[in-house]
Order: sequence, then C-alpha cells, then structure tokens
Amino acid sequence: MQNMVILGATGSIGASTLNVISHNPEAYQVYGLVANSSVDKMLALCEAHQPKFAHMVCEQAAKELQAKLPKSIHTTVTSGEQALIDLVVNKDVETVMAAIVGAAGLVPTFAAVKAGKRVLLANKEALVMSGELFMRAARQSGATILPVDSEHNAIFQCMPESVQTNLGYCDIEAEGIAHILLTGSGGPFLTADLDSLPSVTPEQACKHPNWSMGRKISVDSATMMNKGLEYIEARWLFNTTPEQLKVVIHPQSVIHSMVQYKDGSVVAQMGNPDMRTPIAHCMSYPQRIYAGVEPLDFFKVGQLGFFEPDFNRFPCLQLAIKACHQGQEATTILNAANEIAVDAFLNNQIKFTDIAVVNEACLHMVCGSALNTIEDIIELDKQAREFAKAKVTAMV
Ligand code: NAD
Ligand code: MG
Repeated sequence: MQNMVILGATGSIGASTLNVISHNPEAYQVYGLVANSSVDKMLALCEAHQPKFAHMVCEQAAKELQAKLPKSIHTTVTSGEQALIDLVVNKDVETVMAAIVGAAGLVPTFAAVKAGKRVLLANKEALVMSGELFMRAARQSGATILPVDSEHNAIFQCMPESVQTNLGYCDIEAEGIAHILLTGSGGPFLTADLDSLPSVTPEQACKHPNWSMGRKISVDSATMMNKGLEYIEARWLFNTTPEQLKVVIHPQSVIHSMVQYKDGSVVAQMGNPDMRTPIAHCMSYPQRIYAGVEPLDFFKVGQLGFFEPDFNRFPCLQLAIKACHQGQEATTILNAANEIAVDAFLNNQIKFTDIAVVNEACLHMVCGSALNTIEDIIELDKQAREFAKAKVTAMV
C-alpha cells in the first residue's frame, strides 16, 4: 500500500489522480490532500476518500472546511506553510503528486524532493524555475522523479532504463539518442486568422481541441508557452543540449512525444489524450496498472499530421526557447511574467497577444545574477512579478 499526498487535489490533475486511485484501491491510500481555497470541492474529496490530512493554503478556507466536515470523517484539517511541509515530508508518505499550478507549487514540491520522496511531477513550473537545483537535490536525497506531463512521460517511456533511472544526469547521446521530438497540438488557434488573435476571449483560449485542463495551462497551450515551458522541463529532465530538442506540431495529440535514435529508429508513445495514462504510469512505474482510459482506436484516429511551429503565430514559444538557452535566471523571470500576464488576460485586463508583449518586456530584466538557492529563486520570482504587474498596469 502506497501512502500518497496530492498537492493540487481539487484541480484537473488532482481529479484524474484520485480517479486512478479509485480504480486501484488495494495499492494506493490517500494520505493527504492539499488545495488552495475550494472548500466545497475539498469537502467532497474528504467525504469520498477520507484522507488523514486535508490542507488548505487559505486559512479562512481551512476554518470553513473544519466547520463543514461531518463528525464521522476523521480528517485533520491544517493550514500554514509549516504544516504543509510537515505533511509532505511525513515519514509515512511514500509518494507525492505535485500538481499545484504555477510557482506556488515550488516550495512543497522541492520539500518532497529534498525528503527523498517518489515525486510524480505535474507542476512543470517548479522545474522551469529551479531545474538545476531541483535535479541536484533529487540526486542528493535519492528522490525518484517521475514526469507526469504527458510529453515528458512519453519521452520517459521511449527511453532506455539507464536514462529513466538517471534523470537530470543522463547522457542521451551515449545511449544512441539523436533527438527528442516534443510534440504539441498547437492549441485552439493553430489555424485561426492571425488578425483575429488580439480579440480572442478567455473562453475561446481555454477551449483546447483535445485536452481538458485547468485555465492557466489551457491559455499556455493557446499561446504555446506551454510547449516552451515543456521545452525547458525536458532540458532538465533529460539533460539535453539545444540541438537534441525539437518541437513538432501534431494537431491530433495521439502521439505524446518521440525519441529518435541514431540508427534511424523513432520510438513514439501513443494513446488517447487522457492524463490518467501518464499519471497511472508514474504511480505504478515500473509496473502497469489499469487507468480507466479508453483504448486507442486507430480506425477512429484516421490520419496523423505533423508541422513545424510558426514563431510568428507563437512568439511565446520562441521566447521560452531563447530563455532556456540563457539559463535559470531567464526561465524564472519568464515563468513569473507569464503567470501574471495569463492572469491579466483571464481577467480581461490585457489582450491575448499582449501576453507575449509582457513576457518579452520582462526578459529584459535578465542581468546575469547568480541563483544558488531556492530562496534566491523565490526572490527573483517576486521581483519579476512586480515588474510584470507594472507592465500590465501600463497597458490597461
Ligand atoms: P488546475 O487549475 O485545475 O488546479 C490547480 C490546483 O492547484 C488546485 O487544486 C488549486 O487548489 C491548487 N492551487 C492553486 N493555487 C495554489 C496555491 N497558491 N497554493 C496551493 N495550491 C494552489 O490545474 P491543473 O490543470 O490540474 O494543472 C496543475 C499542474 O499540472 C500545472 O502545473 C500544470 O502545468 C500541470 N499539468 C497539467 C496538465 C493537465 O492536463 N491539466 C497536464 C500536464 C501538466
Ligand atoms: Mg504537457
């Protein structure tokens, strides 16, 4: 029986994780659930899964949850940063699903890594911000990092075991790998008239053609910043050089990414676009479990298409690739700027196309400062947010 803590339990990945657990109740126990402020959602999860702990980041939400929780449910409700860390590093916890959205996920995810847990990593922003420190901490503590993000999970599945067990420090060239082909659907605006992009609404941007996800990542998919963040994520997980990493647009989202070997072989991982597949893979690795996912029907899939990304349509993707080559300072700034810009777009403060404008402006903050600790990164993240907010204010 694996005791699990789910960070971001009330979100889309949280729901999929709990669904996989419900298909495999003999193997997984919900030990702790963590969310920001959705009291009613958390209450329903406590009733359904009876965790030992339910942690709400918002203190008021924790009080409300405590008041609403029926006496028959013996869940301890907590709040506060220390209680969250204590939950994640608890010796009874083997596995932590890191699925808080954005930079807010960094501290608890990093705590799980330092405590040597089995970390199922959905929160790509943590790696974008702290990749080098993150992978080093995992190596030092002996934590197992398993990529949940569907592309990275696909790449992981297409890699030899020697790479899978040496993430962050693998030498993929020595393993005969020529390229990693990171696929992306291109989102809802892949073929939209370029002139229409400044006036698209948050609802249109959140309507992903293939995946059902939280609002932030849905907007990131529409700008392809998501693929940019994933490019940075892949760089750290698979220790790649820029030449080894390529982005391929594949609108059907049937192939979730590929690995090209030097003998000409291309190994791809395929399946329906359902996050329960990579989640279940990470939960049970190296075994396989039932995930509740419809088997892929090739006769229904029909055709698969592949295109080169157009940076004119997707400037955020280009910014992220550039930031990746600049290093940790640039990727931390870009991530922070993007969170502020996406939030402003979702609140109808700026146009869809302004997201890239804010991001690019913030990248001018890069000045070559050293980032040696997580505290350094959190401080830079804070400064970049202030800068981005000022840029947004100047635009509205
Ligand atoms: P979501 O918006 O559906 O859920 C976010 C979760 O994070 C919620 O439980 C919320 O309570 C929690 N949260 C938000 N702010 C918080 C804060 N300040 N402190 C603590 N908790 C907070 O998001 P999602 O789609 O489930 O995505 C979660 C993460 O997984 C993101 O990093 C995303 O990039 C990544 N991811 C998601 C998908 C997907 O299909 N949804 C795929 C790949 C990767
Ligand atoms: Mg992804």
